[in-house]
Amino acid sequence: MQDLVRKSAIAVLPELVRNQIAAGEVIERPASVVKELVENALDAGASRIAVDLEEGGVKLVRIADDGCGIAPGELELAFTAHATSKLAAVEDLDHIATLGFRGEALASIASVARCRAYSRTRERELGAQVDVDGGRMGEAREAGGAVGTRIEVRELFYNTPARRRFLKTTATELGRCLDVVQRLALAQTGVGFVVTHDGRRVFEVEPSMDLRSRVRRTFGAELADALVAVEGVDDATRIEGFVAPPRFARNDTTRQVWFLNGRPLRDKLLSRILREAHRGLVVDNRQPVAFLALAMDPARVDVNVHPAKAEVRFREERRMFGFAVSAIRRSLLATDLATPGARMLGMAQPRGEPEVAPTWTSRRPSAPVGADAAASAPRETPLFVREVAPTDVATPAASAAQRGGEREVRGPLLQIAKTYIVRALDDGFEIVDQHALHERLTLELLREELARGQIEVQRRLVPELVEVGAAQAETLEAHFEALARVGLLFARFGTGTIAVHGLPARLRRPRPDEIVRDALDSIERTGAAPGAEDLLEEILHRAACRSSVMAGDELSEIEMRALLARARETDHAQTCAHGRPTRVRFTLADLERAFHRR
Ligand code: ADP
Ligand code: MG
Repeated sequence: MQDLVRKSAIAVLPELVRNQIAAGEVIERPASVVKELVENALDAGASRIAVDLEEGGVKLVRIADDGCGIAPGELELAFTAHATSKLAAVEDLDHIATLGFRGEALASIASVARCRAYSRTRERELGAQVDVDGGRMGEAREAGGAVGTRIEVRELFYNTPARRRFLKTTATELGRCLDVVQRLALAQTGVGFVVTHDGRRVFEVEPSMDLRSRVRRTFGAELADALVAVEGVDDATRIEGFVAPPRFARNDTTRQVWFLNGRPLRDKLLSRILREAHRGLVVDNRQPVAFLALAMDPARVDVNVHPAKAEVRFREERRMFGFAVSAIRRSLLATDLATPGARMLGMAQPRGEPEVAPTWTSRRPSAPVGADAAASAPRETPLFVREVAPTDVATPAASAAQRGGEREVRGPLLQIAKTYIVRALDDGFEIVDQHALHERLTLELLREELARGQIEVQRRLVPELVEVGAAQAETLEAHFEALARVGLLFARFGTGTIAVHGLPARLRRPRPDEIVRDALDSIERTGAAPGAEDLLEEILHRAACRSSVMAGDELSEIEMRALLARARETDHAQTCAHGRPTRVRFTLADLERAFHRR
């Protein structure tokens, strides 16, 4: 009894225990140590940072930088909780420009590992060194060495076995450490990084390498060469960086790398920005790839919402959203997104055979961009299912010349299988999917009308009646007003019937029954509030799809020419409304390679 009472008496925790608890929040694994120490090096203005790891970082993480260093008298202070040089008063939190500011990292790390720190400032001939072992501070001594700081963290979690048990295999821990460094290296052009593991060099970027070269180092040449530059400024924000063409989209968001004022960031809002910017260009539920830096006054964003500072809160979320979406979309639409024919040639092999990279492609096994794209590409277009990583993509210079991707409609046209249009170009030929292209054109016209606030409506003298059932009629009725905004004029007719009074004039051979059912379907599936932009967009998509030239429609030469000529007028006729390509282009160079002429 006495024991129990004594145990439950209130006491202030000893400092070591406090630090270990704090470590629980920020230090989960070697990668967290790497993150905190590299961020400190960056805050110290380092231009070169060396990261040495042993056994995935569990045995050793050593970070050396050439930054400003720590004055000898302050070395011990740096390892004290809530000791920081980056923040003095709570108001400073409103304009944090450094990566760290909580003053917790070094104290936390030192409480769960054996640490040694060396540091020297420029003003001093000699530096200082201190050992901190499981929170026990040793005595600081003078030590010789270069200007900068070197921190060694050995045997992480040696004194907290429960934590150690959660560590994964060496390969996994190493992967996470690398991921942290690579993200920071993408965010901080101007700083060089070298990472070694068990003495082998595993990653390196020079200080002078720009973002594209860093992406190349990290994710391979195919992706890096295809990136589309993004740039935009308004009075409060600047966005800069790259997006990948839609064909690089993936199943996850791991290649959406955002930086805010040099800080790598994961945030749902940012993923939503990318999805919105790629709307209609990327197949549903695929995640675009992008490397984008946002710069804004630190006062406009709250970084102190999460201990690891991976999430932030934008003070003007809506404005930021609109600004970023339009900057990204502008860049995408100004680029030639036609699928290069060279990528198809490698797939011209019997189905079922294992995919082998043809000798003339330069596919790097280390960058399996195409492999996972293939796994989830839409079924109904088998030609594209075997899509491999691009080997020959339009360069930005070339694409500017062919802005919009469409060229003059000259020369003979050939319709194949009532589905594809083949046309000669000056330097090759192009195969156009007639349905995909027409659908895209119809959708863009409808969108433009919607944006102008007036969808042209074809009214019916006699309404068409569509039976849907009482409950469904009820559901639709709740959305009549929103539907009218996209040109769908519906009314109730009795309990279970919808009267269709008008449809968008742009639709070709519209089928009122199908349109009513599609609208219902969209509403039920999305459960969107009336007027939600997403819902309207989806309904427009479906309507455009239903009322387009179909695969299987025979087209006269005049019709083909008209279709292609119309495509010249829109900016974004390069993928269909579902994000599949509308055309595949083969250049003479592709043909030469296919026939082994070079
Ligand atoms: P924070 O980064 O939040 O301030 P840390 O515990 O990570 O807290 O670091 C404490 C302090 O130690 C920093 O504020 C900084 O003054 C100093 N420091 C840590 N690492 C370095 C470094 N690599 N170079 C120079 N100073 C450093
Ligand atoms: Mg820090």
